[in-house]
Amino acid sequence: MKSLHIGIAGAGPAGLASALFLARAGHRVEILERYDRPAPVGSGLLMQPTGLTVLNELGLFETIRALGSRIDRLHGADALSGRTVLDVRYDAAPGGRYGLAVQRAALFDTLHDAVVSEGIPIRTGLSILGNAPRGDRTALIAASGDDVGTYDLVIDATGARSALIAGSSVAPNVRNLAYGAFWATLDGGHANYDRAALSQRYDRAKVMIGVLPAGRAKPTEPERIAFFWSLKVADAEAVKAAGLDRWKTVIRTYWPECAPFLDQIRDWDQLVLARYAHRTAKPPFVGNVAFIGDSAHSTSPQLGQGANMALLDAAALSHALATASDLASALRNYARARRNHVLLFQLLSLVFTPFYQSDSYAIAWIRDRLVSTVATIPPVQRLLASIVAGTLIDPFAATGLRERDWLDQTMSDRLPA
Ligand SMILES: Cc1cc2nc3c(=O)[nH]c(=O)nc-3n(C[C@H](O)[C@H](O)[C@H](O)COP(=O)(O)OP(=O)(O)OC[C@H]3O[C@@H](n4cnc5c(N)ncnc54)[C@H](O)[C@@H]3O)c2cc1C
Repeated sequence: MKSLHIGIAGAGPAGLASALFLARAGHRVEILERYDRPAPVGSGLLMQPTGLTVLNELGLFETIRALGSRIDRLHGADALSGRTVLDVRYDAAPGGRYGLAVQRAALFDTLHDAVVSEGIPIRTGLSILGNAPRGDRTALIAASGDDVGTYDLVIDATGARSALIAGSSVAPNVRNLAYGAFWATLDGGHANYDRAALSQRYDRAKVMIGVLPAGRAKPTEPERIAFFWSLKVADAEAVKAAGLDRWKTVIRTYWPECAPFLDQIRDWDQLVLARYAHRTAKPPFVGNVAFIGDSAHSTSPQLGQGANMALLDAAALSHALATASDLASALRNYARARRNHVLLFQLLSLVFTPFYQSDSYAIAWIRDRLVSTVATIPPVQRLLASIVAGTLIDPFAATGLRERDWLDQTMSDRLPA
């Protein structure tokens, strides 16, 4: 296919990664971002072998590995009895896989620095609210109502609240989820926490507290953790009104080891309330506009897949453009390449989320009594490890990727950053 002029709306993981892939493939690319200075939003992220393979393909694996914290295990216990109800280890499945927990800033800087060093233009302060046909091309339209550019291909990477997907003919139904979470990035210091695990405490499915080691934002900075407290979004104001001390007392009662983290929180402003929504665009394109990342599919982060799926989308779209003879076939191939993986993980997120975030006593009882027992059986452990890794079905072949060889690198990966 000839070189295309491509406009990418949104400088998150999906937009930045696709800009790198497509510029390297010889296309003329520009990124349009609403913020004046592109900046990461939110706290920590668990990168899976899927997303890490994409970063490896982009030549950015060593950079992110040096910043992140290697995660070998997801562990959750009932806060009242201390009983383990979730224990998933990546090494339960063959292949030597592991996760890497990173601060959002680390993932953003890794991708953004590469985009800048490759001279890919980023136009900032442009909130993209729509698109419209201009002959056989497509214009992106800013909040001012002006066209900001006309492109052979538009990629919408503006995330879960995308105005482009909402205004499109493939707009999916959005389900705003009742539960969200307060998140904070805090110093790990000398606190007593498992540095190789995502650790959680539960009281039924109503309470979930989590600690995720999240590495460093920059090589010179100290290691930090992402701390989260699940709650109903509708209850957030009442929790705040009851006061920070009361909230901290509740958490200390459930999980006393969190005290060093709670001591760092002196103001509600240190906590970000994350809201989650669930939707899937089918298909993830219309005309010559492709939707990638959270714009095409967003969900609760319970399975820790969103940023990884965004990176897979970027790789898949670039592979489709490199291997098809025209744009229309490339977009169909992109949709086909991602369809099964996206559908499966959207479904799994939908099924698993109520086990950790809901009012249901019955579901929590099933999790604590039945699922936790079944999950100790080796084939089930393998299955859960593949779900967490994002590899339950192969996401690589259809996207033109070969999974990184984890075994070959295990020793060097264990070296301290
Ligand atoms: C609390 C929380 C925890 C999470 N944990 C994990 C995890 O552990 N692992 C994981 O893989 N995923 C996780 N996710 C999901 C992950 O954050 C998303 O899936 C991922 O960020 C999606 O990337 P994206 O590039 O599609 O969108 P985004 O990261 O949302 O980026 C969108 C970009 O577009 C810009 N933008 C938005 N609107 C406009 C506009 N109108 N015009 C121009 N620019 C615009 C934004 O400023 C931003 O730069 C989590 C999400 C949340 C909320």
